[in-house]
Amino acid sequence: MDAETVNPMNLLDTLNRPLRDLRISVTDRCNFRCVYCMPKEVFGPDYQFLHRDMVLTFEEITRLARIFAGFGVRKIRLTGGEPLVRKDFPKLVEMLAQIPDLDLTMTTNGALLPRFADELKKAGLKRVTVSLDSLDNEIFKAMNDVDFPVEKVLEGMDAAKAAGLEPIKVNMVVKRGVNESSILPMARFFREKRYILRFIEYMDVGHTNGWRMDDVVPAKEIVNIIGREFPLEPADPNYRGEVAERWSYKDGGGEIGVIASVTQAFCRDCHRARLSAEGKLYTCLFAVKGHDFRELLRNGASDEEISHKIESVWSKRADRYSEIRSENTVPLPKVEMSHIGG
Ligand code: SAM
Ligand code: SF4
Ligand code: SF4
Repeated sequence: MDAETVNPMNLLDTLNRPLRDLRISVTDRCNFRCVYCMPKEVFGPDYQFLHRDMVLTFEEITRLARIFAGFGVRKIRLTGGEPLVRKDFPKLVEMLAQIPDLDLTMTTNGALLPRFADELKKAGLKRVTVSLDSLDNEIFKAMNDVDFPVEKVLEGMDAAKAAGLEPIKVNMVVKRGVNESSILPMARFFREKRYILRFIEYMDVGHTNGWRMDDVVPAKEIVNIIGREFPLEPADPNYRGEVAERWSYKDGGGEIGVIASVTQAFCRDCHRARLSAEGKLYTCLFAVKGHDFRELLRNGASDEEISHKIESVWSKRADRYSEIRSENTVPLPKVEMSHIGG
């Protein structure tokens, strides 16, 4: 594909999917050790996190984000690791917020939101998604594995609401036999609060979490559990390629979402690329290999050269891992979630 002749907005991959959504991991570090993401046995005291020099600077991230926006990216989600542990993170938000027509959001574990919510809003962040896997402290602490209490995450959500970072979405990863019992209490609680609760099927990301199909609670089952207490009806997606399938409470009590990445793959509408903290571009959450942009940036490449590389990577993209997932694909080497940010 030739940079001179292709309108960047029309860039399509081999399955005719445009590039509309970019997730940027700003750090591979985290203050939690969720058992399904950064298990302590692997991410313990000896784990080698990226050295500071290896992580993209705010200027590098912003430059890349601008170039991606030129290809039609309209949504940027900042993630990690835990984005709020990156030093001066609101400064990055402020820089990215200068890019016109961008839906700028972040996913966080909420622990540091009470400290940063106001500053983030002022810097130009539009809204937040906060992860919380249970309202039961025993279950939640066993999942975050750093003894972090539910109340502090709820404080973080309330701080985000008070700052106007709305609508607030809550992500709950459901793992069979671990937090299934929390599905209904979470639904009841967040229905009252009017935060949009989204249930995520536990995925075989990376290779450190020991994933098994038996650990997955299918989205259909989750919808049935909630629907028995609060009747639900399907709602239209907000836009094509929306990851969460929306369900509305029939009595007008708001909505929930289910992200059925395992049982109902949505690869054919996947318009998402992921940039790791060290500047590698991944065209799928389950990709084995990233494409290095840090080297280009640090070797003085022009915007045109960087654009050319984006075109070359995206136009060859053929990923559809979730559609072809099987017992044979699960053990394949894959990048860790904490590197590319979910
Ligand atoms: N630290 C932030 C947080 O937890 O919100 C952002 C990064 S985290 C990797 C992004 C999202 O991925 C979180 O909602 C987390 O629950 C989810 N996640 C992590 N590992 C997962 C897995 N194996 N399956 C499904 N979702 C997962
Ligand atoms: Fe940290 Fe988020 Fe992974 Fe939990 S899910 S370990 S909070 S990056
Ligand atoms: Fe997109 Fe890959 Fe997930 Fe399919 S498996 S929806 S291509 S990230």
